[in-house]
Amino acid sequence: MRFDVVTIFPDALRGLLSAGILGQARDAGVIDVRLHDLRSYTDDPHRIVDDRPYGGGAGMLMKVEPFVRGIEAIRAEYAVSRDGHDSSRSVRTVLLSPQGRLFRQSDATAWARLDGLILLCGRYEGVDERLLEFVDEEISIGDYVLAGGEVAAAVLIEATARMTPGVVGKFDSIESDSFYDKPRVGCPQYTRPPEFRGLRVPDVLLSGDHAKIEAFREAQAWKKTTRNRPELLGLSLEEPTEDG
Ligand code: SAM
Repeated sequence: MRFDVVTIFPDALRGLLSAGILGQARDAGVIDVRLHDLRSYTDDPHRIVDDRPYGGGAGMLMKVEPFVRGIEAIRAEYAVSRDGHDSSRSVRTVLLSPQGRLFRQSDATAWARLDGLILLCGRYEGVDERLLEFVDEEISIGDYVLAGGEVAAAVLIEATARMTPGVVGKFDSIESDSFYDKPRVGCPQYTRPPEFRGLRVPDVLLSGDHAKIEAFREAQAWKKTTRNRPELLGLSLEEPTEDG
């Protein structure tokens, strides 16, 4: 699978996208990550990517034209047929935005079947709304505002790449992860030593009884979901207080 990121800060992402399993998957050619400088899609000598918002207001907005040129240039690389569009290649274009639909594990699972994902990173006060006419979707990684879309793009790439066959060595480790197939978090896990400062690992995990261990883990996962993420189970969510 191929990922293309359009950003004014390609260098900010380089290290993150080269570490750990992402770096290994890139080296092995299982995934291909390409970083594009938005300024390379400008057509003026000053390589301007932003301007003042119509109607006034604080800050600057990112212009629509460089992003659209970027999308078209990248999409053209996928197109192999005579009419410039190969319908057998599935490529999704996503604008990172706090105003978008919330990203979920199920998106990562679905997107891992695509040929390509093009991710557009905003900065400043965001992006000219007309860009939405040129993308498939506007996606948010959470109900908070970041300074730019780069960290959000890295989140989407890492979550999606993990679901791409060949990226994570043992697929059964993914199947026991939080949110995989079920609206619940993963179970609490323990490793050596069996006791640390009076805190003992639950006896059942040391018993060797796999059926009992499985039942214990499943019950603990739902218990933890009820405690930390009640809204996933349709229960009410307490708003955080000022002191957290
Ligand atoms: N004025 C915008 C608003 O209130 O919705 C916020 C702009 S934000 C400071 C700049 C850029 O950061 C956005 O264009 C987007 O690309 C990125 N960004 C910020 N928060 C994000 C989030 N929660 N999810 C995805 N991208 C986000």
